[in-house]
Amino acid sequence: MKLVVVGSSNMDLVISLARIPAIGETVLGGSSSMVFGGKGANQAVAAIRCGGNVSFIAKVGNDLFGENMKKHFEKEGFNSDHILTDANTATGIAQIFVSDKGENSIAVAPGANMKLMPKDFVPFHNLIKNAQVVLLQLETPLETVEFIADIAFQNEVKLILNPAPAKQLTESLLKKIWLLTPNETEASLLTGIDVIDQTSAQKAAEHLLDMGVKNVIVTLGVSGSLLCTAKGVKYFKAFQVKAKDTTAAGDVFNGTLAVAITNGIALQDAITFASAAAAISVTKEGAQPSVPFRVEIDKFLN
Ligand code: ADP
Repeated sequence: MKLVVVGSSNMDLVISLARIPAIGETVLGGSSSMVFGGKGANQAVAAIRCGGNVSFIAKVGNDLFGENMKKHFEKEGFNSDHILTDANTATGIAQIFVSDKGENSIAVAPGANMKLMPKDFVPFHNLIKNAQVVLLQLETPLETVEFIADIAFQNEVKLILNPAPAKQLTESLLKKIWLLTPNETEASLLTGIDVIDQTSAQKAAEHLLDMGVKNVIVTLGVSGSLLCTAKGVKYFKAFQVKAKDTTAAGDVFNGTLAVAITNGIALQDAITFASAAAAISVTKEGAQPSVPFRVEIDKFLN
């Protein structure tokens, strides 16, 4: 039972300081950390740490960050042959400022992530064809997403698309999606319905089903999530925890959800599992450092 994740990998360069620098200003006295991030990598790491049989396909640059990432993915248990290198582009970087008040400002240079093209997938055609589930996001070129969606659809592989960051999608792509997992912002952009609560989330999800998506989960942050299928609608509460940093909550939700589905678990139970994993992640700081391992999820649910 194989899950294939395709997507971005970024180095998050985080500087915490008294206030976010204004234009032309230098603010001294901060502390810094380097954290592995990027939606694709976060979701793949969430998937493998919760016990999935996972392949992760991504592209990094021919630089120190890229080298570092390859070692990191190998340590997590991934096949490093699936991490491609672009000789002429830098590894994806997110420069994040966090103020003492908890405000942030983020600049992303996607670099090699945007060089992951359909032609790179020639060696991976069989891997994708034979997977149970393929999980994608929107931090790589849209033509690559569409290309992989075609392979998945033609071979009856379940395609999960986490449509983040928010982007308009064609009806032809939406029709190939087995499960779409937008948050409120993404659901609003895709449907033109202002998603602010359960009622509007349901309207947006039903609209997405009308547009051809098979199943939809709208995630609502601390307010939980809403599942909408041809059989009807069901709301799931979030687990109550003391939130410290919600970075990557959606990524942990998607990665762990995909593993549960790959293993044949029914959607409703898969959502409970993913909600627990996401809740644990918000109690810790950072993207991949906050991703829980299987033992933590099992302990949390017992
Ligand atoms: P994204 O990070 O993509 O915006 P959400 O914020 O909607 O995604 O979060 C995804 C899921 O993570 C939610 O459906 C919920 O189950 C869980 N979650 C998010 N924030 C919290 C929180 N503060 N407490 C508990 N669970 C949370």
